[in-house]
Amino acid sequence: MEKLQFYRCNRCNKCTFPKKFICSKCGNTVFNLIDAPEGQVKEISVIRHMLGHKDWHPRKIANIQTNTGVSLTVGIDDDIQVGDIVNIYINDGAPVGKNKY
Ligand SMILES: [Zn+2]
Repeated sequence: MEKLQFYRCNRCNKCTFPKKFICSKCGNTVFNLIDAPEGQVKEISVIRHMLGHKDWHPRKIANIQTNTGVSLTVGIDDDIQVGDIVNIYINDGAPVGKNKY
């Protein structure tokens, strides 16, 4: 599985995800791709129903805060708890959090 990548401004190093066309801090338009750093699980929710999906299985999503200032919502495995440190990967085009150990 591939790691999720963040976009880092090549002038002021501010990280963004998803990609913006203009850096919100310095107005630069050139970004470098970096591997997303690990993040901490701040909040967990369960999606029990999804419109249009009759055979939907409940799945967990988590709000992850990284040390770059970027926070994002990702799918997670059932064994992940609030406070866990996770790495963020891309699975079928969607970000997922996996336990570090
Ligand atoms: Zn910038």
